[in-house]
Amino acid sequence: MKGFAMIKIGQVGWIEKEKPKVGPYDAVVRPLAVAPCTSDIHTVFEGAIGERYNMILGHEAVGEVVEVGSEVKDFKPGDRVVVPAITPDWRILEVQRGFHQHSGGMLAGWKFSNIKDGVFAEFFHVNDADMNLAHLPEDIPLEKAVMISDMMTTGFHGAELAEIGLGDTVAVIGIGPVGLMAVAGAKLRGAGRIIAVGSRPALIEAANFYGATDIVNYKNGDIVEQVMKLTDGKGVDRVIIAGAGPDAIDKAVKMVKPGGIVANVNYFGEGDVLPIGRLDWGAGMAHKTIKGGLCPGGRLRMEKLIDLVRYNRVDPGKMATHVFRGFEHIEKALLMMKDKQSDLIKPVVIIEE
Ligand code: NDP
Ligand code: ZN
Repeated sequence: MKGFAMIKIGQVGWIEKEKPKVGPYDAVVRPLAVAPCTSDIHTVFEGAIGERYNMILGHEAVGEVVEVGSEVKDFKPGDRVVVPAITPDWRILEVQRGFHQHSGGMLAGWKFSNIKDGVFAEFFHVNDADMNLAHLPEDIPLEKAVMISDMMTTGFHGAELAEIGLGDTVAVIGIGPVGLMAVAGAKLRGAGRIIAVGSRPALIEAANFYGATDIVNYKNGDIVEQVMKLTDGKGVDRVIIAGAGPDAIDKAVKMVKPGGIVANVNYFGEGDVLPIGRLDWGAGMAHKTIKGGLCPGGRLRMEKLIDLVRYNRVDPGKMATHVFRGFEHIEKALLMMKDKQSDLIKPVVIIEE
């Protein structure tokens, strides 16, 4: 079968591989729609998590089940499914600690385009199909559904990690598709004021659509100063980081109030150390909590997010600014994610309606 792969750090291309085989609990799926992720760009072009050779890219997909193992109960060939970016091993004891993302080791729940071949292929393998796949309702179009697998779960996880409460003032640093879903998640959780930090007009318009009340353009000066000015020097209750470079945590710590939470879902692709200002962190005593997390995956999470789309709590379709038809467009879509032209939020490749 054909797949679009990371050949090595800095190089991508089409390769041929064996079609994957199912184990007793697994499924083989063929993609109906896929989307490239900024994380693929960090992985390939920054070498952010180390060298990988001939690894098929992609971890955002909806698909059709082609084959299932003998023990799979709830899925059969022909079923249309949402495939989470994170497909943990659910039979490892660590899962009972509550962090399925790290079942089998730190970040080991993130398998596609990290530790195994991803979804940019004619077929891909899903471990533990009953626990990781979710049925796709017929009334959700593919370009919306493919946003569930990673963008919604990640952005919403930012809002969950930040423990946003009713009326909180929240800053969201970065309003690409992840940050936009963090804005939407903050609104759903009852934030009062949502200050969105970005620069491109298309993203600013989308941030307003998803619930931002204020916009800070990081190209117009220091974002800490701008946020402090907007809040009369008080700062914000919560910060979600969904973009920017290695100084983002420091900036977030500066703008969050004592007792506040900084929640990071950004994938820091460069630098060995992420600095924070000693005095801004109250010399270690400010009760400013810093958290960071990989998005939740698995079936139940997908089913809950599907309901949010199905019952019109959020419309992730607005983020699909560039929709291509045909498997061969995967290459172009991935490279668009690298170059990020001004009107791009997220490219989607529809392989079959
Ligand atoms: P995008 O590149 O589309 O968006 C990044 C945003 O950050 C843009 O709004 C951009 O502004 C803004 N930005 C860039 N530089 C700065 C700066 N110096 N200060 C403030 N804002 C800045 O990224 P995505 O939304 O696709 O992804 C966001 C991050 O989330 C990525 O690192 C990705 O790898 C990661 N990720 C993490 C996951 C997880 O599980 N934790 C899962 C999926 C993704 P502008 O308007 O100028 O473009
Ligand atoms: Zn991703």
